[in-house]
Parts: sequence; structure tokens; C-alpha cells
Amino acid sequence: MMHAPGAFAPSFAVKSRLDAYVADRDFDKPTLVIDVDRVETQFNALKAGLGRADIHYAVKANPAREIIARLVDLGSHFDAASREEIRLCLSEGAAPSEVSFGNTIKRASDIAWAHDQGITLFAADAEEELEKIAAHAPGARVYIRLIVEVSEADWPLSRKFGCDRDTAMRLLDVAKALGLNPVGFSFHVGSQTRRAEMWAPTLDQMSAIWKAAKDAGHDLTLLNIGGGFPAFYGEEIQAPTDYAAAVMDLIEARFAGVAQIMAEPGRGMVAEAGVIVAEVMLVSRKSDRDMHRWVYLDIGRFSGLAETEGEAIRYQFETLRDADPMGPCIMAGPSCDSADVLYEKRPMQLPLTLKSGDRVLIRNTGAYTSTYSSVCFNGFPPLDVVVI
Ligand SMILES: *Cc1c(COP(=O)(O)O)cnc(C)c1O
Repeated sequence: MMHAPGAFAPSFAVKSRLDAYVADRDFDKPTLVIDVDRVETQFNALKAGLGRADIHYAVKANPAREIIARLVDLGSHFDAASREEIRLCLSEGAAPSEVSFGNTIKRASDIAWAHDQGITLFAADAEEELEKIAAHAPGARVYIRLIVEVSEADWPLSRKFGCDRDTAMRLLDVAKALGLNPVGFSFHVGSQTRRAEMWAPTLDQMSAIWKAAKDAGHDLTLLNIGGGFPAFYGEEIQAPTDYAAAVMDLIEARFAGVAQIMAEPGRGMVAEAGVIVAEVMLVSRKSDRDMHRWVYLDIGRFSGLAETEGEAIRYQFETLRDADPMGPCIMAGPSCDSADVLYEKRPMQLPLTLKSGDRVLIRNTGAYTSTYSSVCFNGFPPLDVVVI
């Protein structure tokens, strides 16, 4: 639909600093715009609910330097997965004692490097990992990651990480025998766990193991509850403070008296602080009989929208034609890979008038987008990031 000069031209509603920033700018490639003040709001909201738990921001969700710097100012701690993430946190002023090396799969030389930097808290879920830590970070504090048996999360992490109860018991003994200081357990309830009560089955499982370890004589002081704090993707979620407070109530009811609790929000800290500005590249039908249009964007599975895998995370798209009649479409990215389809099993509703060149805003995309963007697949540049 063309608009004559001077005629009413639709524009995106300006409801936030992000909206105001993108409204009067042109972008020549897909761009993630992050409002770092919004990260601060979210940190404060989560902190208000988490009470005595320490927040260790999961750096992988979005490692933009400005985010790390702001969180350091706010007193956040950090959970890092690699040498580079640790280096980033330390270079922005985090104290080594405030950075945990939480990946259960670490390179021996990175453990040694982290130990040299003063990192003292490490995760493990296997005997071999404990041996590496004992050899390269002697005497370090370690926590054992437990496998989560039931997760109601939209993006579960259950199978790859953690160990079962019996293995965990043995690993506590092994850690001690290796001269390490086993301080507790960690788990991850699954990313995007939409409601606080969904934590209960996982917490029941964890508290049974915690009790068994105490009964076996282990003096545990640390419970690391991981991430899972949700972002708004169109389905209703609790406000962050209410959500975090409800999770803490569930925890205090099961782990009375635990000395230290740490939480590692990633998505819940940064997703709602970001919007991606993208563009429609093509709208087409494969045949006259094709039920659905195909809408190809300039961003796809390999350039930031990896979490559309399995259509697990359903982003919200906004266009200037949203007042027009809507219809279902299959959405895909621009690359020459047939896996680069975003939504097909459950088609998305987009305006029937949508066409190439139209701007598309993808809401609440501050988490797990820039970090999942490939370097230059097919010559498409990595997702550009602007922090305001
Ligand atoms: C990814 C990750 C997190 C963050 O999870 P969210 O669901 O994004 O909050 C926290 N802890 C660990 C160990 C992780 O791997």
C-alpha cells in the first residue's frame, strides 16, 4: 500500500526508548538494539524477588560489553562458561570472587588460567572434570550439577548436563579425596520456565538429593538454582519480582537454612531489553494452490534466531501493516540452507499486505540472538548489535 505524500502514513507506536530509537533510523542489515537501562530495571526487579540469593548473570545470554559493565555497577555477579566470558567480566571490573566458571565441560588450560585469575568456584558433573579441576585449580570450591528429571520449560536443557543422585553422592566424595572443596549442588530447571509453580517438581527432586547428601555427612553450603526466569514472548508470564519471590518461597520451604543461594538468570535479565529490526526480503507462494505464503526475512536460524529450532520460542513480530487483515504464513531466513525455516508447523499470522522491503520488529529478542549468530554464513553478516 503506497501512501501519497502528506497522507496518513502508519508508523510504529513509540512505547519505549527502544521504539523511539528505531523509529527515525534506517538500518541496512538486521540489527539488535539493546536498551541497557531496561537491563537495569530487570536486574532490580529480579533482585527484589530473589531476596538473599546472589544473582550471577549468565553471560552467554548476551555478552554485550555495556550490559556487563552496567551489571558490574549494579553489584551483579556472573556465571561464565569459557575463558573469553571470564575475561570479559574481569575486564569490566567484576571481582574474581564474583565470577563462577559454571560450564561442566572445561578445557584444562582454561581451568588453569581461570585459577591464575583468582576464580575459585567451578561446576562439575563428572569424575574426569573434577580431576581436571583438582590438577589445575587445587583446593577450589566446586558444586556438582544435577540432572533435571522433569522440566516444564519451553527450552529444556535436561539431558546434556548434570548427573544423577548416586553419581552426585560419589562425586562429592571424589572431590574431597582430590583435595577440592565440594560446597553444594546446582541444577537448571530449563530455560523459559513460564510459571513459578513449574519449579516445584524439580525442587522436590533436588531437595531429596540435598537431604541425602547431608545425611551422608556432607556439609553443603551452596545451592545454585540456575536460570529459567522467563521473558514475554506472547504467552502470559508473571512479573519478574513476583516470579522470583514465588520461586524463593518454594526454595525456602524445601531448603531451610542453606547458607548461600545463587541464581543465574540469562534470558529473564536481557530478553525484554532488546528488539531486532529486520526486513522482509520476499513474500511468495510456491504454486497457485499453495495454502500459505512464504515470508522470507533478512534474518534467520543462522543469523540470530536459532531458538526457533523446533519452533520452541515463538517471537512476536510487528509490522506497519498490522491493522490490515492477517493470514497464516511460513517464515524463513535468507540463507541457502533448507533448515533455515523459522515457523512452519505452526504458521505465523502476518498481514496479507506484507511485502518485500517492509520493516519487521522482532520483540523481546535481547537473549540468545547475537550469541547464536554465525560469523558470515552465505555472506550474511553477523547480527549487528547497538546498545543505547
Ligand atoms: C544458560 C544457563 C543459564 C541461563 O539460563 P536462562 O534460562 O537463560 O536464565 C544459567 N545457568 C547455566 C549453567 C546455564 O548454562
